[in-house]
Amino acid sequence: MTTLRLILGDQLNPAHSWFVEPDATVHYVMMEVRQETDYVLHHAQKIIAIFAAMRRFADGLREAGHRVHYLKIDDTANEHSVPANLDALIASQGIDRFEYQAPDEWRLDHQLDAYAKALPIATQMVDSEHFFTGRHETKQFFDTHGKGQWLMERFYRHMRTQHGVLMETEHRPAGGQWNYDHDNRRAWHGEPPPPEDPRPVHDHSKLWRDIVAAGVNSFGNPQAARIRWPLDRAEALQHLARFIEEALPNFGAWQDAMSTHEPRLFHSQLSFALNTKMLNPREVVEAAEEAYRAHRAELPSVEGFIRQIIGWREYIRGVYWAQMPRYASKNVFRHKRALPQWFWSGDTRMRCLKHAVGQSLEEAHAHHIQRLMIIGNFALLAGLSVPEVCAWYLGVYIDAFEWVELPNTLGMSQFADGGLMASKPYVSSAAYIDRMSDYCKGCAYDRKRRNGEDACPFNALYWDFLARNEATLGRNHRLTMIYKQLSRMPDEERAAIATKARALKANLDSL
Ligand code: FAD
Ligand code: SF4
Repeated sequence: MTTLRLILGDQLNPAHSWFVEPDATVHYVMMEVRQETDYVLHHAQKIIAIFAAMRRFADGLREAGHRVHYLKIDDTANEHSVPANLDALIASQGIDRFEYQAPDEWRLDHQLDAYAKALPIATQMVDSEHFFTGRHETKQFFDTHGKGQWLMERFYRHMRTQHGVLMETEHRPAGGQWNYDHDNRRAWHGEPPPPEDPRPVHDHSKLWRDIVAAGVNSFGNPQAARIRWPLDRAEALQHLARFIEEALPNFGAWQDAMSTHEPRLFHSQLSFALNTKMLNPREVVEAAEEAYRAHRAELPSVEGFIRQIIGWREYIRGVYWAQMPRYASKNVFRHKRALPQWFWSGDTRMRCLKHAVGQSLEEAHAHHIQRLMIIGNFALLAGLSVPEVCAWYLGVYIDAFEWVELPNTLGMSQFADGGLMASKPYVSSAAYIDRMSDYCKGCAYDRKRRNGEDACPFNALYWDFLARNEATLGRNHRLTMIYKQLSRMPDEERAAIATKARALKANLDSL
């Protein structure tokens, strides 16, 4: 029997049981296809980094004695669709069994499932051996313990207990508390200094030229001569070790802070290595817990970091598989305004957005609070089209794969699922942005004003959003205080805010 095994671009896990022993009857196939470069407009660095990492992975497999067919973007035999390339190999190599690892995206899962069912040979989908939870495990947990709500904190505690992570005894969390969020919400004022960027620099100008020559469209700065993402497991492990040593001790306190001087602050930038499966989430969690046990990092930082991995990351995946494919078309506020032009250039006078969008275009990365409370906040307040916002996020970030991008963008940031994930919309006026960043100092807009030429756009848009959605959001107990504040606002001011918000939304390109 001759088996063909497909490895997708985000399945670069050398520890997968497939690779334990080379086997002459097994062929592996990897492919750089237009199907995958073109389903959304991607940031140039994302395409370069994925292809470069795939090529290294294929080289590693060959060195270990495996038989690999690798179709490059400019290969003449490349049909640029996964099924067409598989058909050609099955025919040319006399394949009589086809196997693939469970894809993380519904789009590919659906395609490969249909493809496999139609094949006249034996087929099998195997686990990708990456996540803590199975696709439907989170849904099963909430069906039993959710009381009708998908509370992340409940799931997170269950994960800690089930996997024995940061536990003192079977049921008692380390330090006696599950969550140290209240210690973790500080603004950063220049101290302590963040560590140097640990990422390696790679020159991929030749690969970039081949991608362009093949006609692939993209946006963002290719920085082709200095791609800075770990491209194989060895680099990812070095990156993880440096993060644990140098940044983790300060991760917690400043995880919500934003600075024009330090885009990375104390974030790990491990998402690309994790989402392409070069790193396993278990080893990341173990490394962080070990730093706590060895007194190299305090509990609030370690707990805050571990919550992102076994809490948020697994929970988000659970939402995706429980809700797809209907989830992708949810849009409870029916927002449909086109993205302003500066989403593609960073060219806006709003200093917070100039930095957050500019950094995304430059680096293919922005950290969580920039994604949520600057760009997402603005998109929701301005009523930007949910599908367009989701496509932008899916394209721009180095770590964006739909299973993790969609619930974060559509659910957490745009509240377009009506509150399945977030107990209230993540929106704010300039006050929050000013408290958590240095963006407002030096901005062309006045963070304190709601009305007038130079008033910060966030302020009028914020109050207008709450006023417009009072019928639904006014019942939300987490917004009671805010709606009380709104009810005390004089009618003339409410009317002025509505007029100002209308004018802002009509002129988004010129903000
Ligand atoms: P750190 O802050 O160092 O966090 C450590 C790790 O925790 C991350 O690498 C990531 O694997 C995990 N993590 C943290 N928060 C989340 C979360 N909310 N969901 C899932 N995993 C999380 N993350 C992606 O991996 N891909 C995306 O496409 C993506 N899109 C997002 C869109 C929006 C609107 C928002 C608000 C968040 C999004 N996130 C996404 C989550 C988060 O912003 C990124 O994981 C994080 O910024 C990656 O940088 P980091 O590795 O330095 O993270
Ligand atoms: Fe952003 Fe408003 Fe602050 Fe300017 S004043 S940086 S637009 S929040």
